Amino acid sequence: MKTTLTKTLKDLGVREVNLGTSTGQEFFGSGNEISSYSPVDGKLIGKVTSTTKEDYEKVIDSAQTAFKTWKTTPAPLRGEIVRQFGDKLRELKQPLGELVSYEMGKSLQEGLGEVQEMIDICDFAVGLSRQLHGLTMHSERFGHRMYEQYHPLGIVGIISAFNFPVAVWSWNTALAWICGDVCVWKASEKAPLCSIACQNIIAEVLKNNNLPEGISCIVNGDYKVGEYMTTDKRIPLVSATGSTRMGKIVSKTVGERLGKSLLELGGNNAMIITPDADLKIAIIGAVFGAVGTAGQRCTSTRRLIIHESMYDKVKNTLVDAYKQLKIGNPLDENNHVGPLIDTDAVKMYEDALAKAVAEGGNKVVEGGVLSGEGYESGCYVKPAIVEAENNFEIVQHETFAPILYLLKYSGGVENAIEIQNNVAQGLSSAIMTNNLREAEAFLSHAGSDCGIANVNIGTSGAEIGGAFGGEKETGGGRESGSDAWKVYMRRQTNTINYTTDLPLAQGIKFDL
Ligand code: NAD
Repeated sequence: MKTTLTKTLKDLGVREVNLGTSTGQEFFGSGNEISSYSPVDGKLIGKVTSTTKEDYEKVIDSAQTAFKTWKTTPAPLRGEIVRQFGDKLRELKQPLGELVSYEMGKSLQEGLGEVQEMIDICDFAVGLSRQLHGLTMHSERFGHRMYEQYHPLGIVGIISAFNFPVAVWSWNTALAWICGDVCVWKASEKAPLCSIACQNIIAEVLKNNNLPEGISCIVNGDYKVGEYMTTDKRIPLVSATGSTRMGKIVSKTVGERLGKSLLELGGNNAMIITPDADLKIAIIGAVFGAVGTAGQRCTSTRRLIIHESMYDKVKNTLVDAYKQLKIGNPLDENNHVGPLIDTDAVKMYEDALAKAVAEGGNKVVEGGVLSGEGYESGCYVKPAIVEAENNFEIVQHETFAPILYLLKYSGGVENAIEIQNNVAQGLSSAIMTNNLREAEAFLSHAGSDCGIANVNIGTSGAEIGGAFGGEKETGGGRESGSDAWKVYMRRQTNTINYTTDLPLAQGIKFDL
């Protein structure tokens, strides 16, 4: 393991102590060091210097300069750079996937899957670079033409969460770059080495193409470095992924200067299991959704809303399935569940379980913290299942850990939908049913109020082709596929007069 990892870090240009600020190829930084410990074995992987205000100013200067060149580069040529970046990611998929897995703690399969998402969004963006379409309209005036265009915005600030330490950056950058924007990224202080690795990869592509520094920049540090970006008028768009708590602050700060924010925040995702569900897929979907990435996906399944006629059967099958879960080193593909990100997250897990019981919940799968050989980092917990009520305070709250709440409904599917919608968050939702009426009701305007609504698929995971994001306290932002690119551009309406008269709109006369 150690030898593979050393090679992995070397392949990605990650050293023991890394300068954490970059305007392109050059890395610098004189701020405090942030240590990155692996939740897998508790070992120190490397250190990164945080970005000082002075370093930050250098980054913004460089990004502003690069924007002048980049915005005038034709979009398909920008797409060509993203294509080369995608190819580089294909080459480095294994080492980057390993680093993601080791620094964040998700399974190697999921680490590799995350890099695959980066490759997929690059492919998507390359095609899109020839399709940044605006509409044409008919003018009400004779001899006039009207149409709209999308122009680059400028600097896009990206603030990302620990749980998708590389993919979220690429969802934003691949689109922002083809749109003609330049990007400044602040990764989570819990996974800073991933940002160093990604910057090294794109730096080589930019260098090979003689492009200026500043198209891709990174800064590192905690929320204070994030605040440099949210308060900075030179950044027209801040894309922030993380907790609802963070999103409320970012939205207010960016809003005060009338900047735009794209918010991808917490979820409280539910799966409805109706009497017409195919139990085989429902159980697999529920277990993967609840325990995959140790419950640390924004789309993790937190609540199961089960019809009373199926309740005991589903509960007993789940309890049996949980007995088969193997918990341990996520780089070992025999394990299903890896660690939480750090011991603070373990404390939150324990507190949430205690609170659920204090509110009247009944643990049907006990949970608990693991210790001893293989669990030295102190970050490994057992997935838990609790019978609960939707109105419990703790059930209303997103706990970023493998805790699944079982909720019972009776009567028609509308009652299950009401329970599912009755939380503050609105990210992902799913219904397991073979009943067409139930499925359509769930997807209708009176159905799920989430940004993602699935039928016979779990809540967890999404394809890059669709727009990704959620409603209510999830923040309302959309990233990735469909027309999510529009947020990275400014829309301009153009009217052209090709006559010798100057007719005014709405028939207004103004004669001199
Ligand atoms: P977090 O909110 O603690 O941190 C996220 C990022 O925000 C970090 O880079 C952090 O430094 C920065 N930050 C925090 N406060 C800030 C401030 N005041 N100003 C500027 N930046 C600030 O979240 P986390 O623990 O890293 O990630 C877990 C959360 O992220 C969960 O709630 C999860 O649901 C959510 N998430 C959402 C999505 C989505 O697409 N909806 C995707 C991944 C994660």
